[in-house]
Amino acid sequence: MQQPARYLITSALPYANGPKHIGHLAGAYLPADIYVRYLRSAGRDVVFVCGSDEHGAAITMQAMKEKTTPREIVDKYHALLKSNMADLGISFDIYHRTSDPLHHETAREFFQSLNDRGLLEKKSTEQFYDEQTETFLADRYIMGTCPVCGYDGAYGDQCEKCGTSLSPEQLIQPRSTLSGAPPVKKSTTHWYLPLDKYETFLREWILEKHGGDWKANVVGQCKSWLDAGLQPRAVTRDLDWGVRLPEGLPGSEGKVLYVWFDAPIGYISATKQWAADHQKDWQPYWNSPDTKLVHFIGKDNIVFHCIIFPVMLSLKGHILPDNVPSNEFMNLEGDKMSTSRGWSIEMDEYIRDFVHTENGGPMMVDALRYYLTAIAPETKDSEFTWKGFQDALNSELVAIFGNFVNRTFVLMHKLCQGKVPALHPSCLDDADKAMFAAMKETAGQVSSGIEQYRFRDALFDVIDLARKGNRYMQEKEPWILAKKLEQNDATEEEKKIAREKIDNCLHTCLQLTANLAILMNPFLPNTARSMCRMMKVVEKMLDWENAGKPKLLSVGYSLRAPELLFRKMEDSEVLIQLEKLKAKSEALQQQKNMNEQTTTETTQPAHTALKPEIVFDDFAKIDLRTGTIVSAEKVEKADKLLKLEVDLGFEKRTIVSGIAQHVNPTEIVGKQVIVVANLAPRKMRGIESNGMILMAEDAQDKLHFVSADAAAGNGSTVS
Ligand SMILES: [Zn+2]
Repeated sequence: MQQPARYLITSALPYANGPKHIGHLAGAYLPADIYVRYLRSAGRDVVFVCGSDEHGAAITMQAMKEKTTPREIVDKYHALLKSNMADLGISFDIYHRTSDPLHHETAREFFQSLNDRGLLEKKSTEQFYDEQTETFLADRYIMGTCPVCGYDGAYGDQCEKCGTSLSPEQLIQPRSTLSGAPPVKKSTTHWYLPLDKYETFLREWILEKHGGDWKANVVGQCKSWLDAGLQPRAVTRDLDWGVRLPEGLPGSEGKVLYVWFDAPIGYISATKQWAADHQKDWQPYWNSPDTKLVHFIGKDNIVFHCIIFPVMLSLKGHILPDNVPSNEFMNLEGDKMSTSRGWSIEMDEYIRDFVHTENGGPMMVDALRYYLTAIAPETKDSEFTWKGFQDALNSELVAIFGNFVNRTFVLMHKLCQGKVPALHPSCLDDADKAMFAAMKETAGQVSSGIEQYRFRDALFDVIDLARKGNRYMQEKEPWILAKKLEQNDATEEEKKIAREKIDNCLHTCLQLTANLAILMNPFLPNTARSMCRMMKVVEKMLDWENAGKPKLLSVGYSLRAPELLFRKMEDSEVLIQLEKLKAKSEALQQQKNMNEQTTTETTQPAHTALKPEIVFDDFAKIDLRTGTIVSAEKVEKADKLLKLEVDLGFEKRTIVSGIAQHVNPTEIVGKQVIVVANLAPRKMRGIESNGMILMAEDAQDKLHFVSADAAAGNGSTVS
C-alpha cells in the first residue's frame, strides 16, 4: 500500500468546563500521542491537533455554578487542560481553543458556505421558553423529573442519575434552571442539517468501505444509528455564548452555532493556526486525497465523528477520516469513572501526587502511560486499579525493562571498562544470533501493531523483548565467565574464550538496549530520552529506521553510568490513593445529598423513593405480557374497580383493576397494556381476577397505562 503524503491526527476536543480524568487520557489522547510519536520517528509528515471545546450550555451552566462568566470558566479550564496534557507528554503540534477569533471566523464561514448553497434547512418549532428571563431553554437550561427513574434533577438532555438521554419534552414537571419557573412553549426558528439525505452516502462509506478496517465497536454503533434512521439536526441554538451566525442573515438574532457543529470545525481552525505559526499551507491537510486523516475519540463521540462531521466535511469538499479509532470505557476500582460523582483520578491530581514531587517526575509520567496502555480498553471495557498500577510498575517496568537496562550498564562498567565491547564472530553462538533476530522481528511487530492501532499488543512486544534480554543474560552468566579471567589455573586459551564470550554478551545486550529505547520511545518518551543520555547518543538515534538494526552503538564508545529509569511503588502509596478516592466520592455524595434536600424542601415535590435492590432472578420470576383491552365495565358497588377483558393473543383474561377513578371505561377499549400474567388469581367483589395491569403513578397520584410499541402484538413477553 502506498504511504500517505501526510498525516493529520486529531484528538477529541476536551470540554473546558472542568478537569478531565485519566479515563479521558486513555481514550483519545494517549493512543493518538503514541501513534504520532511513532509517525514522527518514522520521518512522516504529521500534524497533531487538538484544543479546548469552549462553547455550549455546559460552559454557561458551569459559569452559573461557579458564579462567574463563561469567559472566566473557559480561560481557567483551557489553561488547566493545556498544562495537564503537556505535563503528561501529550505532544500536540497545537493545542488551540474554540473561543479564538480564527475559529469563530472559520466556523461561521463553514456555516455560511453550506447555507448559501441551500444545504441547510430552516424550520420553526415550539421550544420551551422562560418568560421571566426571556430565554429559550435548551438542554441543561431545563430540569424536571426523569420519566425513567423518577429523579427530580434530570436535565433536558440527560438524566445523570440513570444515564438515560432525554429530550426536554420528556421531562415531567419541567422547570427553568434560570428562574425555577415552569416554562412555556414558544416558536423559534433554527437551521438544520438534513442528515436523512445522506444515509446512502454514509452506509456506503462506513459499512462498505470501512466495515472491515474500522474497529468493530465503531462500525457497530454507526450501523445501529443508520438502522434507526437519521433525522435532520439543528445546527443553531438560542444562546448568547458561542459562534454568532453571519451578520445580516434574517432570523439569526440571538442565535449561535450549536456546539456540536462548531466544535469539530475546531480541528480545521487549529490546523490553520498551526500553519500560520509555522509558515505552512493548511489546505493540503484538509483537502488533498493523499492526506491520511485519523480522529482519535472516546466512545461517546462516535456519532459525531463518524456520522455528522463526515457529512459536513463532504459537503464542504474536505477529505474524510481514514479511521476513527475509539476505545471502550475504562472503569476505576469496580465502578464507572465519573468526575461529578468524585469516582475518578483527575489528570491534575495524578500530576500533583506523582509527577510534581521529589521522587516522581518524568518517570512517573511514563509509569502512567505504561499502565494506561497496558490496560487500554481497545476492544472491551477495562479497569484501572491502584493495585494493578503498582503491579505493572513494579513487576514489569522495574523488574523486567528497568532491570535489564540497569544490569547491562552495571556489568558493562564492571567487566568492559565502561565501553562498548567488540563482537567476536568466531565465538558467536545461536543464542547471540537469536537475540539479534528477535530485535529485528520485534521492530516489525511493534511497527505493524501501532499502524493498526493495536497499541497494547505493540507495547507487550517491547516488554517481551526486554524479557528475552533478561533470559539471555541469565543463560550467558557473564559474571561467572569473569571469574575465569581471575583464575590462576586457567589457560590463556580458556581466558581468551571467556573474554570473548563476555564481550559478545554485553555487546549484544547494549545493542538490545539501544533497540529497546527506539521501540519504547512512542510509548514512554521520557524513558527513551534517559536511555539516550546513558548511551551518550543524540535523540536522532531514536529514528524508527534504526529499529531492529544490530550496530547502533560503536565498539569502543564509552557510556555513562546507569540512571534509575523507574521507581517502585510502595503498598502505602496504594492505600493512600484508595482512601483518597473513597473520601473524595463520599464528600461529593454528601454535598449532593445536602443540595438535593434543600431543593426538595424548598421547590420540589418529593419523588417516590426507590425500593430495596433486587437481583435479576427476583425480576425474572414475573411473567409480563403485552395485551389489548377488549372490554371494560364498572364493578357494581365498587367505585374504584373496573372489570376488564384483556386479549393476550393466546387467551383472553378477566382482570379486575383499581383504576376506575383514573380512566374512562369507554375510552380504554383497544388500549395496549402490559399484564403481570403469572400472578395468582384472586377474587374481588365476587369476580376472579387473573393478572394485573401495569400502571405508572405520577407525582399527583394519577395513574397512567404503561404500554409497549403496538408492533409487539399481543402475548409478547416483556423483560
Ligand atoms: Zn433517570
